Formats: sequence, C-alpha cells, structure tokens
Amino acid sequence: TSFDQLGLPSQINDGLLAMNFKKPSKIQEKALPLMISNPPTNMIAQSQSGTGKTAAFVLTVLSRVDFTKPEQPQALLLAPSRELARQIQGVIQTVGQFCDNLKVEAAIPGAVSREFGVKASIVVGTPGTVMDLVRRRQFDVSQLKVLVIDEADNMLDQQGLGEQCVRVKGMLPKTIQILLFSATFPDKVYNFAKKFAPNANEIKL
Ligand code: AMP
Repeated sequence: TSFDQLGLPSQINDGLLAMNFKKPSKIQEKALPLMISNPPTNMIAQSQSGTGKTAAFVLTVLSRVDFTKPEQPQALLLAPSRELARQIQGVIQTVGQFCDNLKVEAAIPGAVSREFGVKASIVVGTPGTVMDLVRRRQFDVSQLKVLVIDEADNMLDQQGLGEQCVRVKGMLPKTIQILLFSATFPDKVYNFAKKFAPNANEIKL
C-alpha cells in the first residue's frame, strides 16, 4: 500500500513526501482506512512505540480539519505530559506544513493567552489544563470532531488522569470520534477504554 491509495488530501501527501515517509507503516496501513472513513468510528489501537502511531493519529486529525476555519478548535489530542504534547504538536506542524492556515496550539500550563484563549483548529494538551480552559470559557469545544488520547495506558489508568479524561470527554460533543492509542492495554485499562470509546474498531499488532 502507498499513502496515495489512502485518499488523503494532497497537501498532506506533500508533507509526507517532505518527511520522506514513502509508505505507511503496519499500524498506519491497518488503522488509517478505518479512522479516516465516514461516518467516523472510534478506534482502540495497540502498537509498540516506534511503529508510527503518532503519524497514524496525526494524519487522521489533519484529514478531519476544515482549514478554512483556522481558529475554530476541531481536534483535541490529549497526552500525559507537557513534553509529549509539545512533541505531538511538532509532528502535526511538520506533517501539516503544506496545509494552508494550519494552526496548532498547546493547551499546557502557561501556553494559552489569558486574553484571547485557544485560537487554533488543532489543540494538543494535558487533561488538567484543557479542563481549566474549558471551564474558564477560553476553549470552545462545541465544534470538536475528533478526540485522540495518546499513551492511553498511562492516561486511563492513573486515578487522577483517568478521571480527568472522563471529565473532559463529558464536556465534548457526544458524537465526537474517539481514538485511543497505546503500546499496551492491560486488562483494567482495556475495559475502561471500551467504555470510553464505545463500539470502537480494535487493532492490535
Ligand atoms: P512513533 O511510533 O510515532 O514514535 O514513530 C516512530 C518513528 O517512525 C518516528 O521517528 C516517525 O517519524 C517515523 N515514521 C512514522 N511513520 C513512518 C512512515 N510511514 N515511514 C517512515 N517513517 C515513519
């Protein structure tokens, strides 16, 4: 399979070319067609780190965003740490470098303007900060179409983070597409994940 066959927008294929990604990795080949198809469906994907998970969900997010509304939040990605959130933001900016009006903002402590709030189509953050921003009405979540949780084993396991993820999800549109990615899904996390992302397609490598 080549990326061309997936039917991604051409600016995204240009980004992949610039990164020298020649063909989809195994997880990308399996998960992408399911994640980018319509109507959107939820996904629980398990794959070791280093297998191209990040690009798999980044490509999905980029394919779902309407770039004519650059300041309207449309995708939310949650990570367990600021560092990982920044890293994901960097991957989105690189893969999406040819997407006109791409705006990606990090919803991590201290990064969002108190005055203007979140002004980006794609938001990558940590759950606590995202919750605060939504509560202070500095982050309009009403038009979000896709929610990604990276490192779901960490995110949905720890008491605090798991609870925060559930609270955040509760603030989002009920029809949002939910994508959970993790290197491992211990039983407890897996059971939680199935409730968190109902009727999900499941992929395990
Ligand atoms: P990850 O599993 O997301 O940590 O990605 C591991 C590494 O694989 C990263 O350095 C990516 O840039 C790279 N990568 C992801 N997808 C591809 C691909 N389709 N072709 C070549 N390299 C890739």
